Amino acid sequence: MCQRKASVPVVAESPQHEVIIIGGGLVGFVLALALEKYTGRKVPVFERSATMLPNVGAGLVLQQNGLKVLRDIDETLYEAILQASSDFTERTWERHDGTVIAAAPESNSRGMQRWRLQNLLHEAVCRKGINVHWGKELTKVDSQSSSEYVRVNFADGTQTTTAWLMASDGVKSKVRRTVAPDVEWHYSGWTSFMGISHVESSKLRMPSSLTTKCHATFFPIGDFESCFQIHFPLSSTNPECWGTLTCKRSAEMCQKLANELEADGWDESFLQHLKTAQRSVQVGFGELNPTLKHWVYGRVVLLGDAAHPPHPFLGQGSQQGYEDAATLALLIEEFGLTAKSMELYETIRMSRVDLVAKCDAQMGDSQQRRASSSKLAFSQEDSVQRQIFFHETSPLLLAGAAHDYRQAIRDAIEPRKL
Ligand SMILES: Cc1cc2nc3c(=O)[nH]c(=O)nc-3n(C[C@H](O)[C@H](O)[C@H](O)COP(=O)(O)OP(=O)(O)OC[C@H]3O[C@@H](n4cnc5c(N)ncnc54)[C@H](O)[C@@H]3O)c2cc1C
Repeated sequence: MCQRKASVPVVAESPQHEVIIIGGGLVGFVLALALEKYTGRKVPVFERSATMLPNVGAGLVLQQNGLKVLRDIDETLYEAILQASSDFTERTWERHDGTVIAAAPESNSRGMQRWRLQNLLHEAVCRKGINVHWGKELTKVDSQSSSEYVRVNFADGTQTTTAWLMASDGVKSKVRRTVAPDVEWHYSGWTSFMGISHVESSKLRMPSSLTTKCHATFFPIGDFESCFQIHFPLSSTNPECWGTLTCKRSAEMCQKLANELEADGWDESFLQHLKTAQRSVQVGFGELNPTLKHWVYGRVVLLGDAAHPPHPFLGQGSQQGYEDAATLALLIEEFGLTAKSMELYETIRMSRVDLVAKCDAQMGDSQQRRASSSKLAFSQEDSVQRQIFFHETSPLLLAGAAHDYRQAIRDAIEPRKL
């Protein structure tokens, strides 16, 4: 067992649960399904929200590596995801006026509304007979590496005990703040304005603008439905939320942005997204500082955004969480709920997520350089074209999407068997 500092009381009684999951977002549900599939355990999920809410958030991209996890844990779920999402077969790097700099084929990627995916995951969890406890906001965790149990308190005054706590309670994770109190989330200076629009499209487009000094991503998520994500370097913002903006606020922001982009010469096909927006969210992205040294603290395991805040540019945010969940469940299948499983989980996943985060930063940097100065734009365009000529896509994207999480487990285990 990894020894960690934790200044919290020892819990002495028998635990009510062997494992629980805190956070019924995308990763919490994927973990519940993976544990059921690979270990036969029906692990209860405790979620803060009172119920599943439709039309929350905007859209996300599912890439090959994430889809592989979802297909492996539940074929029926996978088929439903294919039905509820939209594929795109091409990715284009463009200027804001619509001039295409480079185009690359895109295989096995799909766009989807985030709440629809969460809904399908929830349905799959219910089909498997896994309990989801809604309206359960964790307020306190008592654990210690020397203790055999963890006690959890909820905002409604109830509490429970568990031998293992899997925390997928999102980017502002209360569990993480308890087990690693010196680590804080800090806004990185990037804000994205995201939304759902009535625009038909068959490709993922990545324009960048020298005049507006921002770049963007547009991708299809259904019939006459697309997602727009406009990325700004903003020094000050309220970086809080994934919360959907009110209709009034969303309409005002879309109108203001559409006017600005129109004045700057953005192509009408991009402006259409803002003009037909159904709803939008404003999201500040950030980093943990200092970075987490561990993801396992005694009997508490972090995964998904709780362990690694999402980054906006590669579309790998949630796929990394699915890889976490499947890796953890497969290790528990192989080695049980043991210190060995948890150590391997940390070893395999921390280095992988670190690599993807670096690729994401490079992708964001490359796009922003195109938006910063004409000299940089010129050389970046050249660089993008060369990469796509030689690799048929951006190698940064491959680092995320071409990964095989099962192979990573085999690679980590085999040397130990020798
Ligand atoms: C409302 C919402 C909308 C989002 N919209 C988008 C989007 O449009 N596009 C996109 O790319 N990403 C979106 N995200 C982020 C995306 O879901 C995550 O980056 C990624 O999928 C990782 O998932 P996760 O399960 O680790 O975190 P999340 O999906 O954030 O899930 C965390 C869950 O934990 C719950 N929780 C938090 N604190 C507690 C607590 N104390 N006790 C119990 N439960 C708790 C939250 O309610 C949430 O359901 C959204 C997240 C949220 C919460």
